Formats: sequence, structure tokens, C-alpha cells
Amino acid sequence: MVSRVIPVEDFDLVIFGGTGDLARRKILPGLFRRYLSGQMPDTSRIIGAARSDLDDAGYRDMVREAIAEFGGEEAKNTQELSAFIAQLHYVTVDAKGDGGWSELHEMIRFEAVNAFYFSVAPSLFGDLAERLHTYKIADKDSRVVVEKPFGRDLDTARELNATLAQHFDEKQIYRIDHYLGKETVQNLMAVRFGNILFEPLWNNHYVDHIEITVAETVGVGGRGAYYDKSGAMRDMVQNHLMQLLCLIAMEAPSVFDADAVRDEKLKVIRALQPVEPHHIVRGQYDRAGDEPSYREDAGNERSFTESFIAMRTEIANWRWAGVPFYLRTGKKLKARASEIVVVFKDLGHSIFPGDQERHRNILSIQLQPNEGMQLRVTIKEPGPGGMRLVDVPLDMTFAEALEGDNDTVDAYERLIMDVIRGNQTLFMRGDEVEAAWEWTDPIIQGWEARGDVPKLYDQGSAGPDDALLLMHREGRRWSQIKA
Ligand code: NAD
Repeated sequence: MVSRVIPVEDFDLVIFGGTGDLARRKILPGLFRRYLSGQMPDTSRIIGAARSDLDDAGYRDMVREAIAEFGGEEAKNTQELSAFIAQLHYVTVDAKGDGGWSELHEMIRFEAVNAFYFSVAPSLFGDLAERLHTYKIADKDSRVVVEKPFGRDLDTARELNATLAQHFDEKQIYRIDHYLGKETVQNLMAVRFGNILFEPLWNNHYVDHIEITVAETVGVGGRGAYYDKSGAMRDMVQNHLMQLLCLIAMEAPSVFDADAVRDEKLKVIRALQPVEPHHIVRGQYDRAGDEPSYREDAGNERSFTESFIAMRTEIANWRWAGVPFYLRTGKKLKARASEIVVVFKDLGHSIFPGDQERHRNILSIQLQPNEGMQLRVTIKEPGPGGMRLVDVPLDMTFAEALEGDNDTVDAYERLIMDVIRGNQTLFMRGDEVEAAWEWTDPIIQGWEARGDVPKLYDQGSAGPDDALLLMHREGRRWSQIKA
């Protein structure tokens, strides 16, 4: 199949924090891949803007090294890499000072699409937004991209939204959640809303429960001190897991456009039930031989912050009333795996002898490390010997059938190209983020008020045993965490 990559409009993308970890590991290697695919016009420019005292040549050397380190196989294409690097520029700016801003103004081509990626600490968003306006660098058509964390509670999220709103319209703000940029997340919407098969079953009459798991094998490592102020609820649940839950649970939007999709997601968040304390399990990974414990990694022997969380919640609307949604995420678990599992109900009556539960239909959607979607269906085991049933996975990614058309676009690449195209569908709107904190805040405040102590769990496990009980108590079992 012929590749259908369509070049985006000519653009100038300014990356504030262009020398930082995120820019070097994700944003710049991603842009290089879009360049290789032919999606980035030859005339487009990427302008790194940060505090380090560099010139264009110094920045280009830095980016070349970053792409060699993080760019995978493609980085070996040195000729193309040199051509890409030639499209990079650099300006030294201080978000809190006045140096560099006039130079940046001179560099920008106002006739092209202008986007400003705030890959810096959120405490600098206000300063950046203000100076972009004072120096007349941003106008009403400019776009700004902001990174997580978007606040640490409802109040701080409101403040951030208000700060950005002083200078930018909501239509100009792109809040990144890279989980939404995954191919499979879009495929999930295609499968749900492009087929007649699923919609009649997508409700409490036919779905028994839904699980969302985001498991990591890494600990908090060098980010320990930072992470300790946040924890799994703020770092993962409030954003990534909630976004996945919204896409699974939302009603069909009337059209596939940014606001219609985000309106539906918002309704899901607003319909989320408060979570009862006995429906939450928090954990901290224990020491394992020479491997430090969470508290050692965090440098806080009295830390009550969770590196693992499992919870059960429900969505109070006609479609989902009574269907449990089980969410879990954690660090130092047995495998790196992000998966959504939709478990359908048992058949009302089976004409075949055998175990009912074994023959449940299950839709599994993997986001990490590999993307994929399978529907478990029951068929007759081929061959003679009577009617024996067997469960087989029906592959719904059709990677082989579509080979050649899908050059595995990483989430960051896709999202940055969406910014240039002006498509906000896969970005969080301000009211969604606030609604998510509105649901999360009372849960966190409850732990703080009770002095809730996380349970220890073994590194390389599936989390504390109590997390298993959360489902066992209701006669269910988590799916295996496997890569
Ligand atoms: P970093 O500390 O590696 O880089 C920070 C960048 O900001 C540097 O380029 C630095 O020069 C620049 N900077 C700092 N102070 C400045 C100032 N006063 N004026 C101008 N530039 C200034 O941080 P990072 O890990 O790249 O993270 C950037 C943002 O992205 C943060 O908000 C972070 O929470 C978020 N984020 C990072 C990751 C990641 O994997 N690193 C993942 C998700 C979100």
C-alpha cells in the first residue's frame, strides 16, 4: 500500500526548554521522523529556546547527539539527519528576564504557522505567555503546547488555565497527554464508532467490567524527590488513565471534531462516582536485595506517597450504571504493559457443556510496549472428535493487511503534527482537566485526612495483594500483567 503521508503547512515551531530532557528524548527525535516521512516541509524551522548559552551550531551539535542517542534506527541516516539539522535554530532566552525575546521576534516568520511548545516547568508558563505577547511574538493564530503536570489539584489547574487564558484563547491551547496520541487510541474510536457490531453491546447489559492497567517496570529513580510530591494518583490516574477511561466510556460524538469529542469525554468525567475508601488500594514498592525501596528512592523515610494504585469506580449514567471500572497503575511491577480490557458478560444460556467463564468474549487493547487490539471469540476446535470449544484471539490491528501504510508514528510525533494542522481532538480541554481534578481531589484529601499508609509490595509483582482482593471480593480476576 502506498504511504499517505500528507505534508503539513509550513511552520516555525519554537521549543521553550529545547535543551531539556523531554525535547532531547521525545520531541526532536519525533520531529526528525516526521521529516524523514516527508511530512515536515523543507522550509519549516524548529527554534530551540532555553537558558543555555548556545548558538545555532552548538544547538545543532546537541540535537545531533540527542537523535543519535534516542532516535533509533532512523538516526543512522546521516545525510537526511544533516538536512533536518539545518532546519534548526537556537535563541537564548530567559522566561523570567528580557534577554533574547527581541531576537526571537526577529526570527519568527509570521506568514507561517507559529507554534510554541512550553517544554519547561509549569511555573514558567505565565512568564512565557506574557513575554510572547509583550514582544508581539504570538498573535491570535499562534498555538501553544503545554505539558503535564497540568496542576497538582483543582486550584492550581484553575490558576494555570486562567494564566494561559489571559493571553490565549482555548482554541490556541494544546494540552498534551501523549497517551491520546497512540495509534491504538485512535483505532479504538474507529472500531467503536465505525462498526455496527460494538455499539449494541457497549453498555451495562453486555459488559461485565472494564480494566485499565498502566504498569511500569522502572522505579522513580532519579525523579524520586519530584515524584514524592505527586504519586501515582496525580502522575498517572488524573490524566492518562482518566483519558483512556473517557475514550472507552464516552457516547458517540455527533461529528468527529475536537469539541464534539471533548464534550463527550467531559460528560464521562462528570458522571464518575466518588470512590469509596475500601475501593482503593495504594502501595509502595519494597526493597529487593540491592534494589532500593520506594522510600529510599524518594529520599523520604516517612513518605506516604503511593507508587501504586488500584481502584474501582463506576460511571453514573444509563449506559454504564453498575459496571465496575477497575483502574491500576504502578512502578516496579512485573512487566511494562498498558492495556484496556473489556470483559463481556457470560452467555445467558449455553448449549455447550463446559466452563462458562472461559468462553467470555474479551476485547483487549494494548497501548504499550506494543500496540494492538484483539477480540477473544469462541470457536470449535478444528478436527474430529466432537464439539470442543476453544477461545482464539481475533487480531483487530490488521498490521499485516495494512503493512506499508503504517510507519508506526510515535505519540509525540502525531500530536505535534496535529498542533501544526490545528486539530485539537487529541488534546485535553481546560474544563476536562479541571473536572478530572474535581474528581481526584477529594480522594487525595481523604488519604491525607486519614493519614492513609500505602501497603508495601514486592518489586516485580502485580502490586499489593489487596489489589487482587479488590476484584476477588466481587468474583473477578485482573488480567495478567504481561508485556
Ligand atoms: P528539563 O529540566 O530537562 O529541561 C528544562 C528546560 O527548561 C531546559 O531546556 C532549560 O534550559 C529550560 N529552562 C529552565 N528555566 C528556564 C528559564 N527561566 N527560561 C528559559 N528556559 C528555561 O525538563 P524536562 O524533563 O525536559 O521537562 C520539561 C517539561 O515537560 C516539564 O514541565 C515536565 O514536567 C514535562 N514533562 C517531561 C517529561 C519527560 O519525560 N522529561 C514527560 C512528561 C512531561
